[in-house]
Order: sequence, then structure tokens, then C-alpha cells
Amino acid sequence: MHLEALGWDSHFMESFQEFVSQGLLPARIAREHRSMYLAYSEAGELAAEVSGRLRFGAASKERMPAVGDWVALRPMDGGPRAIIHCVLPRKSAFLRKVASVKTESQVLAANVDVVFLVMGLAKNFNLRRLERYLTLAWESGSRPVVVLNKADLCDEVETRLAEVEAVAFDVPAYAVSAKEGSGLEPVVSHIGEGRTAVFLGSSGVGKSTLINRLLGTERLATGDVREADGRGRHVTTSRELVLLPGGGVVIDTPGLRELQLWANEESLRGSFEDIEALADGCRFRDCEHETEPGCAVKQAIDEGELEAKRFKSYKKLKRELDILAARKDQRAKLDMKAKQKQFARRVRQSQRWRQKR
Ligand code: GDP
Ligand code: ZN
Repeated sequence: MHLEALGWDSHFMESFQEFVSQGLLPARIAREHRSMYLAYSEAGELAAEVSGRLRFGAASKERMPAVGDWVALRPMDGGPRAIIHCVLPRKSAFLRKVASVKTESQVLAANVDVVFLVMGLAKNFNLRRLERYLTLAWESGSRPVVVLNKADLCDEVETRLAEVEAVAFDVPAYAVSAKEGSGLEPVVSHIGEGRTAVFLGSSGVGKSTLINRLLGTERLATGDVREADGRGRHVTTSRELVLLPGGGVVIDTPGLRELQLWANEESLRGSFEDIEALADGCRFRDCEHETEPGCAVKQAIDEGELEAKRFKSYKKLKRELDILAARKDQRAKLDMKAKQKQFARRVRQSQRWRQKR
């Protein structure tokens, strides 16, 4: 197994340097199940567990290995098993908050280069949803590409493409038919040797069909089969990171498909550049674009320059992000309190220790 084909590059090589002398090997996580990992390395496939130090030292779930991560591991003698000692710094990551109360995030996929945002051209087409997906893509640190699938069912492909371009700015967008296998070349050109891709989109838009096209096999059960056997999705997947025959890597984890919002202010800006630009023209710097006088955003809506729907979607997203930010803040404060407590305890302990002597 060649590491370069799996996405290994100078960036990871550099962070791996310190482990070379310790006799560790680089490997990429292909699957996670409970506390066991499947890792691809130059020594082949390894079943790996994390070291106790990593497990207990990791302050949050985010530091634990996830599918797509590059890790430093030590193969064990006799048998394809290994211990993971460190997760190499990520180039990008898709995060999901674990629980709604405890704002902690979990990594769903790491080191993704390109994220295909898949929408159906027939029923599924929804620009507001696309805006949310774009935000997620930017937040992850990977590059979005819009794929409008089921072109065979749509008579207004050009119109839809133009609508997408108005929302997605410089993001490439393509209309394809996964079923007929048409329009796929420009999509494939974004993957290529050593590049890692994921597919995001609602259920039924054709992600499995697209991935099967790229694989040239029926690795994933598509909607047809799923309906027929009534067992729901993902019948055949054991590996969540697969190499494409034409070069490139696809990560497809069930969790990614149900991605929740985990974004920040900055990426919001990425997907709503037009509104942010308008807001620069508001009289007040902290304008909420509600009832303030001299609001350039309201004016743009009145003059039909900005769609009211788009503004609403921006407000909604912003509100969600504000709530998230507040939670994060609170959590940071709690962490700080815990640390202070711990510190006070240590001080007391050392005082007692000194008194005893
Ligand atoms: P997923 O849930 O996103 O993985 O979607 P699937 O790949 O399972 O596809 C859902 C359904 O849409 C299946 O019945 C596919 O055969 C169908 N489908 C996928 N791509 C196309 C397409 O380009 N055109 C048409 N007409 N149907 C498609
Ligand atoms: Zn305003």
C-alpha cells in the first residue's frame, strides 16, 4: 500500500518526523468501531487501538483518531495489530457536536480535500440548504464543489446552475446524472491521486450511486436495493475510507450523512459575502438589520436587490451560531473553573506535604 496514494504528503511527513526515531509507522484510519480502528499502512492493514496515554491524555473527543486521520502507530509483534500513539495535526476536519447540552465536538472525517455537496435537481433542489452545506464545507477547511444530480429528470438544468452560482460564488458547480453516468468527468477531475473526497447531501440525492460510479462497482447499496430489502442504508460498507481505482480516496461515514451544524462566524461570512458587503454600508456598525435607520441591508431587500428569503436564512443561521458560541463560551468558563479547582487542590496537597516534613 503506497502512502502517497492514500494522501500522504510533505505536510504530514513533517509532523511525523519526531516519531521516526521512535520506530513508529505512519498510517491512515479507514474505519472506527467502538475503540478499535482499522488503519492502512505500508505494512498493510492493521487493527489498532489507542495507547492508554492517548486515551486518557486526550482532553476532548476531538483529539482521538477519526476516519481519515493520519496517526503514528507501533505495530505489535506477531499479527496485524498496532497501538496508536499520536494523531498527526489535521489539514481539515468535519465536526459534529456530540450532545446538545454538552458542547463537545466529534470528528466525523479528517483530512478531506474536497467536499461534494450533492443536491437532486428534481425534488431536493433547495438553495437555503445549499447555503448551510457551503458553510459546513468552509468550516471544515476543505474545498466545496456543488454536484447537481439527476439532470436526467430536469428540464431547467441551466437555470438551476445559474441559481446555484448566484449563491455559491466561485464554487464550481456541475450538473450530472449518476444514473446515466453523464457529466461526471469534471467532477472526477477534482479528486485524483492522493486527494480525499467526501459526499454530503440529503438521503436519496444519489450519493451512493455517484460513489459506485467512481468505484466502478456496486459497493454501496443504493436506494433501490435499500427499499427492496427494507434494511435501510449502508448494507455493505465495512470500510469507510476507500481508494478509487482511478486514484483518490473517498470517505463515506454514516455520521457524515447526518451532519449537524457546527460552524463559526467566519465561515458564515464565506457563504453570505453579499450580505456582509451590504452591511458595511449600514449607518450603525452593530446594525441588526431590523429597525435601524440607514440600514443598507433592508434597503437592498426593499429595492429587490437582495432576496428576503436569503436574508432570512442568514438570520437563522446566525442565530444558531450565536447559541453555539454562547454554549462554547460557557463550557470554556466551566473548564477554567475545573482547572482552578485542580490547581487549588494541588497547592493544598503540596502545603500538607511540606507540613509533614
Ligand atoms: P443516497 O441516499 O444519496 O446515497 O442516494 P442513492 O444513491 O441511494 O440514490 C437514491 C435513488 O436515486 C436511487 O433509486 C437511485 O437509483 C436514484 N438515482 C441516483 N442518481 C440518479 C440520477 O442521476 N437520475 C435518476 N433519475 N435517479 C438517480
Ligand atoms: Zn443594517
